[in-house]
Amino acid sequence: MCGVFGAFSASGRPVLEDVYLGLYALQHRGQESAGVSWIDHGNVHSLKGMGLVHNALDQGTLSSIPASSAIGHVRYSTFGGSLFQNAQPLAANYARGPVAIAHNGNLTNADGLMHYLENRGAIFQSTCDTETILHLMAHQAHKNPLDALMDALRRLEGAYSLAVLLEDRLVAARDPWGFRPLVLGVRDDVTYVASESCALDIVGAKLLRDVEPGEVVVIDAKGTLSLRIPMTPRKGFHCSFEYVYFARPDSVLDGRSVYQARKELGRRLALRCPCSEAELVAGMPDSGTLAALGYAEASACPFEIAVVRNRYVGRTFIQPTQRVREIGVRIKLNPNGEIFRDRDAVVVDDSIVRGTTASRVVSLIRDAGARSVHLRIASPPVRFPCYYGIDTPCSEELAAARMDLEALRREVGADSLAYLDETDLVESIGLPEEKLCTACFSGRYLEGGTCHDLEL
Ligand code: SF4
Repeated sequence: MCGVFGAFSASGRPVLEDVYLGLYALQHRGQESAGVSWIDHGNVHSLKGMGLVHNALDQGTLSSIPASSAIGHVRYSTFGGSLFQNAQPLAANYARGPVAIAHNGNLTNADGLMHYLENRGAIFQSTCDTETILHLMAHQAHKNPLDALMDALRRLEGAYSLAVLLEDRLVAARDPWGFRPLVLGVRDDVTYVASESCALDIVGAKLLRDVEPGEVVVIDAKGTLSLRIPMTPRKGFHCSFEYVYFARPDSVLDGRSVYQARKELGRRLALRCPCSEAELVAGMPDSGTLAALGYAEASACPFEIAVVRNRYVGRTFIQPTQRVREIGVRIKLNPNGEIFRDRDAVVVDDSIVRGTTASRVVSLIRDAGARSVHLRIASPPVRFPCYYGIDTPCSEELAAARMDLEALRREVGADSLAYLDETDLVESIGLPEEKLCTACFSGRYLEGGTCHDLEL
């Protein structure tokens, strides 16, 4: 996860307030830290802090800084701990000038790259895989910063959607598989790059297009230039989980509306896993709500907002420790007894990852008086870890990998439990199957994965 945002004004208009607002719209992608970087008189400057955007950054301060290009980042740690030194953007003033990088994704060859670079004298300031990009650039000091960045990119494997700030330039880069989303937008003379289109809406920008898999877009005062990451074929292997859970429903990713995809998941779930005794359909807020709407529509069963979410608590899956996750569920969701009492309910959730939320909510709904609780999951069982930027580090933590369907039903305490299958997932999203990553459901990871030749 993580969210990146960048802005470049061709006329010199200040953009840091826009970056702050963009990060605000991307808050759902990371809540552990937030930061911004800009370049002034040849030096890169950063402001960063732990926590939510409004805790980490001061809007008034940012609005008073006259930077005409800047990038920002909200973090959810998948590589390196939740520490201040890992807060992004990562920035440096190196031999060829200033550079700052904001990264969404996971580099699958980061350990090898770090080892290689440390053996050649690099001293890492963070434990983030992102820092390898800075060191790879520094090792190419005979090249100009853009060429050094292009060279660094061709050595990376795994998932990266990047906003990179160079002197007089903003660069957007997406790995050849396009795991994580990245879009371009424009408003007047300002060009934007953002993890999701909802962040363009907040600054009044128009969505131009997605950054293509393997594309590097260079934005400067003369306009935009599209380059290809050297020696990498254009592929496309977009994360299906973005549509199921991560992205905001008001975003459009790779040409597909998250809202429409999520509702279609619910409709298909109703057809594949009906529940004849249900008197109401409720969604697990917020990410199960749209699928519940689709389920209710397709099953002609009334939809109720029966589980109320405390809006001032973060998304439980994103909190970094199990204890915090458990406390988070308890204070976050409240089933409404007036709606559930003495009724048979279908409850739709987007997924079951660790199972903590599902079992807690089923138990709360029973306490609220429901006669029966039928859990319907709008995605296939998550059985495999993600190596491309999502925090599901090992199978032992995944409920569906630890037990079969019946054992999981008992574990969560539901009267029935059913999942959508992979075909319906792919068809609901509406992208070609070969262009969608479903590895955490299917175990089909990218083939290959060997390190490139590291000779610099
Ligand atoms: S493994 Fe799952 S979460 Fe990771 S990129 Fe693929 S679909 Fe997304």
